[in-house]
Amino acid sequence: MLLTLTRHAPNAADIGYVLGKNPASVFQREFSGGVVWAFYPEVSDEHVTIALVTEIDPIALVRGPAPLTHLGQYINDRPYVASSLTSVALRVAFSSALSGKGAHDERDTPARWVVKLPAVACDAGEEMITRILAPLGYAVTVTQAPLDARFPQWGPADIYSVTLEGETTAHNLLSHLYVLLPVLDNTKHYYVGDDESEKLLAHGGEWLAGHPERELIARRYLRYKRPLVESALARLAERDPALSEAEAEAGADQPSDPAEQAQGLHEQRLNTVMAAIREVGARSLADLGCGEGRLLTLAMRERELTRLFGMDVSSVALARAARRLHVDSLSAAQRARLTLAQGSLLYRDERLAGFDVAALVEVIEHLDAARLNAMERVVFHHAQPKRVIVTTPNRDYNVHWEAVGEQRLRHHDHRFEWTRTECQAWAERVARTYRYRAVWQGIGPEEPDIGAPSQMVIFDRDADAADTLVAAGTETVRQTTS
Ligand code: SAH
Repeated sequence: MLLTLTRHAPNAADIGYVLGKNPASVFQREFSGGVVWAFYPEVSDEHVTIALVTEIDPIALVRGPAPLTHLGQYINDRPYVASSLTSVALRVAFSSALSGKGAHDERDTPARWVVKLPAVACDAGEEMITRILAPLGYAVTVTQAPLDARFPQWGPADIYSVTLEGETTAHNLLSHLYVLLPVLDNTKHYYVGDDESEKLLAHGGEWLAGHPERELIARRYLRYKRPLVESALARLAERDPALSEAEAEAGADQPSDPAEQAQGLHEQRLNTVMAAIREVGARSLADLGCGEGRLLTLAMRERELTRLFGMDVSSVALARAARRLHVDSLSAAQRARLTLAQGSLLYRDERLAGFDVAALVEVIEHLDAARLNAMERVVFHHAQPKRVIVTTPNRDYNVHWEAVGEQRLRHHDHRFEWTRTECQAWAERVARTYRYRAVWQGIGPEEPDIGAPSQMVIFDRDADAADTLVAAGTETVRQTTS
């Protein structure tokens, strides 16, 4: 079985560090199913290809601790197709890039990858392959192989040559393959026990929750074991980005119709942000961490905004944004106003330069606190929009919600939530460091002592800080720097 991964990016060879594989040597290791090799057939400044080859011993499989009696005994396709054995080989060869550690490797910047899988076994055909892989942001090309090229009358095999092309990180790419190759193959070479759903959540947690076919994927990955599938789906549902802040807040709220209230809060937040965009007569807007494109939907209605850029690290979120914004059916003129792109706020990105306003709506609390300074440099030092609008939950307010309380955070993916004082201190420091002026305000209904549920900071680049800002208005406005 052969699998090649090509990364197209400048200094492509740096990926050797991320994968923990020296481009100059060949990696070889025995594992339970056979032997795996990883090596680099091509290395240049522009692109680098990594090949993974496995030699599977079908006889050992049949005789092994979990014999595959249904696999046609001693003669089977296992040595030749991508399967759960390939996933094991991927884990053996690229353990650190595939693990949570890989997810935090700064050198693993998103880049264009082309993956070639010459033989993917799939019992449910081409359509299933596309249905499962395309929502992750890949362009998928599938060609069905004949059973035997010498005897065309025998017809096609359930084996497909698959090429994936997309912009992502090595960690994401490997975790997609690790989870999905066995899903396509729909067989496993070992007994699926309780720990299998842990594995699914560990490797798929970041992207599977928002995948439109997560149910199908969980069923096939967990070999249709209903209790496992149900518990995995329940846990994934908690992580669904669609169950975003708005709904998490809804779940936490108690008054008469909490869902409506919290939905109302996110709307109010977005309207407040839109007002701050209009206030400076912005012509261009970068929505960083745009999620499903809720702010962009409002921004598209503003004629003055001629250039809209939505960026998110999640391809699933971007696919949803494209749907929400009806990207496919926009007129050419409307289409030209809008760009959606995958990218991370933690890495310098030329595409972010030259915007009047950048908005980070309920995004910073999703970044590790230790990485916030990376975001600050990217946004305030390199991109340098005239105005930066940041919103984030107000932790002081959490006690108002019984289900959240003093100790918990509002959403499982939040790395922190700031009190008003913490937020203001941060804003002050950032403004001082990067020569911006910061104005803080609460968003949502104010309660005595605990303030409003959400908070916002408007940063204006010092050179052209508008006078209007200081007069921004209500009692909740407080100028934190001057
Ligand atoms: N701004 C949107 C979404 C908020 S949810 C809204 O208000 O509706 C937070 C979003 O931040 C998610 O879509 C998540 O994918 C994105 N995100 C998390 N880390 C990111 C990073 N490093 N770079 C860019 N986006 C990121």
